[in-house]
This record gives sequence, structure tokens and C-alpha cells, in this order.
Amino acid sequence: MKNSFLITLIFIFLPLISIGQSGEWCGTVYPEYMFEYVEEATRNLQNGIEKSGDAYYIPVTLHNMRQNSGLGGTDIERILEMFCEIADAFEPYDMNLYLSSIEYHDNTAWTADAAIATTQFLTREKNTVNMYLFPSLTGGAGLCGYYSGNATSPGATQPMGLDVIAININGCGNRVDVLVHELGHYFGLPHTFHGFEGSGSNCGVYVVNGERVDGSNCHGVTDRICDTKPDNNASGGLNCPGGQGCLQYDRDSVAFYPDITNYMSYFDEDCQNRFTQGQQEVMRNIIENLREDLLIPPIPESIEGVTETATLVLPPEGANRPYDEVYFNWAPVPNSTHYYFEINRTENFSPSFMVENGIVEKNEYTSTILQPSLDYYWRVIPYNQVNTCNATDSQGSFSTLAWTVANEEVEGVESFDISPNPVTSGASLIIELQTTRSMNGALNVYNISGQLVHREAIDVPASSNQFMLDTQPFATGLYVVQLEFEEGMIYQKFVVQ
Ligand SMILES: [Zn+2]
Repeated sequence: MKNSFLITLIFIFLPLISIGQSGEWCGTVYPEYMFEYVEEATRNLQNGIEKSGDAYYIPVTLHNMRQNSGLGGTDIERILEMFCEIADAFEPYDMNLYLSSIEYHDNTAWTADAAIATTQFLTREKNTVNMYLFPSLTGGAGLCGYYSGNATSPGATQPMGLDVIAININGCGNRVDVLVHELGHYFGLPHTFHGFEGSGSNCGVYVVNGERVDGSNCHGVTDRICDTKPDNNASGGLNCPGGQGCLQYDRDSVAFYPDITNYMSYFDEDCQNRFTQGQQEVMRNIIENLREDLLIPPIPESIEGVTETATLVLPPEGANRPYDEVYFNWAPVPNSTHYYFEINRTENFSPSFMVENGIVEKNEYTSTILQPSLDYYWRVIPYNQVNTCNATDSQGSFSTLAWTVANEEVEGVESFDISPNPVTSGASLIIELQTTRSMNGALNVYNISGQLVHREAIDVPASSNQFMLDTQPFATGLYVVQLEFEEGMIYQKFVVQ
């Protein structure tokens, strides 16, 4: 009987290898030494010893890997939504993940995960889980992600090694089950089909070294966790066939269906939604023995999620601003500890036209890199580290003027002052100019839209000079008075009220 299964195995097994590799897979090589902790937790659970139900608070740093230009990374709204989903996945196991930080790395060379050995030494944060979001992985489009521990040197005694998670964010890594799966590896879990990696689906075939359905050899084979069902499927991309996975056979040829809901299996996202208690105990054992560093940072304040959007204040919608220095602010949003801020050239915030972005903790930002006479769009997304769900943006627009806020150094000009400011409509604005030599030029006044509303020639000797500007013709509002000389231009803003 077994011989015939063996023959079937040979014929079916070989073609399936290519399916396993061209489908979706995980590149984690599970370090053998970790089984020590798996087996300890499994024995303890069978002897009725469970880890305490204390809640763990686990900080996670997400590294957004982008090109030099800032392109190619992961959209902030997706990052926040994704983090919300993975935190929800671990919460039932008393593992409260919180977003320690989102770090942007704009370095094209680092967008190849092959550089991760270099990258991680420069960017890895201590006392947090480090998860790198790559635009692609060098293993190919089907490679979803991996945990890189000391995996390639099973005999090595130094635990952890690189100790980072790499995610292919544009492939299957854009799915929460992949992220949860790789975090499962990070917290010490092997695949439910451990040992069958690279061998295809193993559906419908007898395997010589599988786990028995009756669990009698659960300590020695596959994941060595006794409350996970046997599973021999190592082929990614199986979409919950029939809602129960493919029919498999254990080493005694007993037919069974695997647990397609387990995060550490290779069944797809629609199926996966849980860890077993045995897996929970393993993760807790690993955290307490190998990852105490994660428990060092102070527990973040428990706060509700952000439910409101930001009310944008400055610049007012559609306003014009001197291009060299634009100040932004918005009303503080309840429960928010961080704000994502972005300036873009397009109304739909296309990543290709992103001008500037980042994370700020205060409800303000000043940009000094904008170009003159352009239309811009800006947006703010409030969130907090504990609950990143429902993060929604507020959007505004503004234009830049041709002039700067900062006065140039103009040779020969010692000081330039205006008063009173604001000036009452109809009163005179007094312009005082101290010069060290005689200069010829023009006095210009622009309104907030950048239109020239007044111009007169000026001729100043080397001394204290005073001009009176009649504000009668000007409507109330913000103006800029500009003194234009051959040597350069200087400005002052004033308000007519
Ligand atoms: Zn895996």
C-alpha cells in the first residue's frame, strides 16, 4: 500500500515544486535553536503551566524604503490602515502592538532588500520590532516576505542575528495575513508545515515524515506545537479551497483537512484569522526569554482612536504665500499624538508629484523648499501610536508668490522699517530706510494675489530716508511693500485694516 503512495508521490511531487516557487511564499528559514523554546512552551502547556495573562505592549518600527526621490514607498494611509489590522490580529493574544515610529529612508540602494545587512545596522531601532517595507524583494514577485534572524547559520549560538522583518509591499506583502505571518516568525513560530518548505502543496499525497492526525508524534515533527493540526501544504496562493483546504494524508495514510485559519499556514488571507493557544504560549515564551528588550520601553498611554479629521487653519484655503517660507498649522485633533504632513503638486496627491512629507508631533510645520508662483496642495492625517485605525486626511490648497519673505542682503541698506502695522485704511504708512550710499530704484506694493497695485520711482541719498505711502486706494488686507534696487530687493509685509 505504501509503495503505491510512494510512486504517486514521485510523479506528483516534482511538478508541484515549481508551483510552490512560482506561487506566493515566505522566505523565512526557521532557526533550529528556536525549537528549544517551542518545545519548552509546548511541554509546559501540556503540564498545565501557562504563561501569565499579563498584557504585553510591543513597539513596532515601520521602515518605509523609498528611492532617493522619495518615490516608490508605501502610502501613509495604507501604512496606518495596515498597522491597525496587524494590531487587531495580535490583540486577542494579549500582545498589544503599538506604532513606535514610521521611518522614511530615501535611498535607492536600500530599496533592494539584498542591502538589508548594511541597512539594518544604520537604521534598526533598539527595543522595537523592525519591519522594513520594500517596494519589491530580490527573491521575486512571489516572495511575500521573511523574517531574517540567524536563519542561515543554524549552528550559530548568537540568537537573533539581523533580526528584522522584510515585506514585499507591492506584492502579497500588501496583505495583513502576510504581515501577521512574518510577525509570527519574529515571535518564534515555525510554519505549521515546518520541514516541507519548497515541496509544493503535498495535497492528496502520502508524505513520509508528516505529523499524525492523532497527535502522537506532535513533539517531533513539523511545528512541534501540539494543538496545531497536521499540515503538509507548502504551496502559497491556495485560496481556501472548498473552505477546508486540500485533503492531505498523514504518515499513516490517514486523510485529514488542515487548519486553513492558522496564520502560520500557507493558505491565503481570506482563510487566516488565528493562532492556537499553543502558538500563543510559544510567542510568550520567546518574548520573555529572547525578547525582553521589547518590554523595556514605557507602556504608551492607553488612548482611544482618532475619530476626527484635522481642521486646517493656515494658510487659509486658496491663499498666496511668499514662496521661501510657508507656515502651516491646524487645530489639534483629540487623541492624536502624531500628524502626517504632505505637500503635493496634484490635487489627488499623486506620489510622483509629492514635494515634501513627514511625520510631526506638533500641529504645525514650516516649509522652506517651495518654488515661486506655483499651485500646491497639502494634507494632514492625525493618528496616535496605539490606534491607527480610521486615519483620514484633510486637504487644502495654496499658491506661492514670486517673492520671498526673507529680505535679501542689499549692499548699502542698513535698515528698513515700516509703521504703523497694521495701518488704518486711509492713513499713511511710514517707510523708513537707512542707507550708507545713494541709490536709485522703485517702491512697489503688491496685494495678496501678487498683483502690483502701486509703483513709484525712488531716489535716495546716503542718509535716513522717510517715505509716506497713502493707503487710501487700498482695500483692507495683506500687502507687501517692495524696494527694488539694482543691488537687490527688500520686502516688508503690512496689513491695511
Ligand atoms: Zn513563513
